[in-house]
Amino acid sequence: MLECYRKAGRIAGEARDFGASLVEPGVRALEVVRRIEDYIQEHGADIAFPATLSVNDVAAHYTPKHDDTLAFRKGELVKVDVGAHVDGYIGDTAVTVEVGGTTKYTMLREAVEDALDIAIGLMQPRAPLNLIGGAVEQTIESFGFKPISNLTGHSLKQYVLHSGLSVPNVRDMTSDRVKEGDVVAVEPFATTGVGKVEGKKPGNIYRMGRIKSTKYRNVVEYIQVEYRTLPFAERWLHPYVRHLGFTLHSLTRNGIIQPYSILYEISKGMVAQKEHTIIITKEGCEVTTDTEGRYG
Ligand code: MN
Ligand code: MN
Repeated sequence: MLECYRKAGRIAGEARDFGASLVEPGVRALEVVRRIEDYIQEHGADIAFPATLSVNDVAAHYTPKHDDTLAFRKGELVKVDVGAHVDGYIGDTAVTVEVGGTTKYTMLREAVEDALDIAIGLMQPRAPLNLIGGAVEQTIESFGFKPISNLTGHSLKQYVLHSGLSVPNVRDMTSDRVKEGDVVAVEPFATTGVGKVEGKKPGNIYRMGRIKSTKYRNVVEYIQVEYRTLPFAERWLHPYVRHLGFTLHSLTRNGIIQPYSILYEISKGMVAQKEHTIIITKEGCEVTTDTEGRYG
């Protein structure tokens, strides 16, 4: 199991770096996510969730549609968030790039880098997650920015992306602690805005809902076999399902699937994020998605 987490983490980290290197002025988001997802599959893992490329004040959950024409422009701030799994054991990781090599948001990116390093440095058995949230908050505020208070890291389990524990980015009221063997995604978000996101409209990513029905049984069975309990993208179904827009709308309306909303910073602040997946060990933690040897 740990070996699966390590392999998934390594491949997710490489795919993240590869994806970030492709984000250039004029390049289409659709091309980048396809190449990230191909990379994961060609290197011996499966895709844990659709690769997302969230731009500027979009903090998370944007993936292109099958016919999306969005292209990057110089100076935009792009969060590249990538997930790979091996036998359901997930590596979840993200980095922020400024398109075309501009440096307007270097400090914002450094704020999340430092916050992530500090949070990882505090992770060990029995570490209280509210204090780690407090350390993230203080670090980001020391750069003059705000942490996003309603986005959190999360524990991972086999085929489960958010499995119960939350890792806050502010000091909150939780009394949760991590324990040896827990696998956790740590993901500070910093913004030039007020520090809150809201879902303004449904995006192009879905998960299975709670309601069971025989409606569109073939499509639902296909989703369950291919993606199990993990999120999936509209563009993944497009080659296989006719009248896809109508079908997804109807499945959503009936509660059979649920869309993830695109998350915008409420004051239109720019947002940076950095994320690693870690395994809590007896002594501290092991970072599965690190490709730089940063955590030795
Ligand atoms: Mn992520
Ligand atoms: Mn995550």
